[in-house]
This record gives sequence, C-alpha cells and structure tokens, in this order.
Amino acid sequence: VLQKLIKAEKLQTVSHLAASISHEVRNPLTAARGFIQLLSSDIPDRTRKQYSDIALKELDRATEVINDYLTFAKPAPDRVEKININEEIQHAVNVVIPLATMNGTEIKLSLLDKDYFTKGEKKKFQQCLINILKNSIESMKSNGELKLTQSFTDGKIKIDIEDEGIGMTQEQINRLGEPYFTTKEKGTGLGMMVSYSIIKSMNGTIHVESEYGKGTCFTLILPIFQNDYFNN
Ligand code: ADP
Ligand code: MG
Repeated sequence: VLQKLIKAEKLQTVSHLAASISHEVRNPLTAARGFIQLLSSDIPDRTRKQYSDIALKELDRATEVINDYLTFAKPAPDRVEKININEEIQHAVNVVIPLATMNGTEIKLSLLDKDYFTKGEKKKFQQCLINILKNSIESMKSNGELKLTQSFTDGKIKIDIEDEGIGMTQEQINRLGEPYFTTKEKGTGLGMMVSYSIIKSMNGTIHVESEYGKGTCFTLILPIFQNDYFNN
C-alpha cells in the first residue's frame, strides 16, 4: 500500500515537470552558447579546448533530456490510437539496435505470432519502450543479453524486458520513477518517470524485479482491445 501511495505522488509531479522541462533544455543551451562565444576571444589553446569540451557536454545534456522526455516536451492533446503491440515493439527494438551493437549487447526477441491491439498514443508508447530498453542496455558492461518476451496472460499482454546488468538495490528500486533520480554520470533521471506515466495513461502496469549485481526484469502489462472496438 505504501508503495502505491508513493507512486501516485510521483505521478502528480509529472504535470509540473512538463512545464519546467524547457528549463532543463534551456539551461545547458545557454551555457553552451556562452562558452562558444568565449572561443572567439583571445585565449590560450588549452583554455579553448576546455571551453569547447564544456560546450559539447552541455549540448549532450540538452540532447539527453530531449531523448528521455520528447513526448512530453510538446503539449499535444491526448490522442487515442489503435496500437499494434507487436509492431511497436519491433520499432522500438530497431531504434536501440545501434546502441546495443555499440555496447556488445545481444537482443533476443520473442514475439507472439498473432497481432494484439491496445490503445494509447503510439509515440508515447514508443518512448516508454525505448527508455526501458536503453536502461537495460546501459546496465550491461559488454556481452550481455537483453531478452524481450511478449506473452498473453489473463486476457492481457505481458512484455518482459530482462537484462543481465548491474541490477538495483532495494533503495534504488524504491526511488525508480522519481524525477531526476539517476545513478549515471550523464543521466537525466527522467526516463523512468516518463515511462511510468505513459503506461499509467494506457491503463497498464509496470512491475520491476531486480537483484543487485545480477540483473533486472521490467514487466509491462497492457489491456487488449479487439478490432471491433476501433471500428466504431
Ligand atoms: P537515467 O537513465 O537518465 O539515469 P532513468 O529514469 O531512465 O534515468 O533511470 C533512473 C535510474 O534507474 C538509473 O540511473 C538506474 O540507476 C536505474 N535503472 C533503470 N533501469 C535499470 C536497469 N535495467 N538496470 C539497472 N538500473 C536501472
Ligand atoms: Mg534512462
């Protein structure tokens, strides 16, 4: 019960964050601009190198925030689309393949033969899957395996995303989804918050099981809607 209360509180902060997100992008951009401006002044080469490194770091930061937060950055009205779960999983996996390859991660995909449909915003669902997949890949040093398994249980679709990465402590699991909670040097701590709120808006659930030093499994459960639901 306590866990649920905490999650509900976290979700309330999302709308506030949507308003402040431009801040999160503007600050590093302003910093980058300042240092780029300094590049054209009369400074030693070593200082010039330092300034350009800082500018690049700040630009990377802005990109990361946008990457994790993209769907909330623009206040689009909530559209409800018919989502082919298979298709969207395939698409999200394709997006993270370059990252996986760079990291030496092998992705094992196991999808159902039949197409199942849920409802929500395709783009947001994409964002959610990508954020979770990215975290799984980033949690593994090299030669790790990422298993994505889709199954059908109790009239719902279950998606398991399992990695062999560093895992999380109980304290980290408790803080998951909290804005700005990150253990990464270049992390935004926005990815999971975004993912939780997207799945909630789709009337689904996210469950996490993790063992520190062993790996993590995220489980998404989504309601299914039959074809005729969308034809009316
Ligand atoms: P970021 O990736 O920018 O740190 P997220 O909100 O995506 O922000 O994730 C928050 C934190 O949750 C991560 O920094 C990490 O500590 C933890 N985390 C999320 N997914 C995993 C995972 N698959 N394995 C280990 N830790 C994870
Ligand atoms: Mg992340």
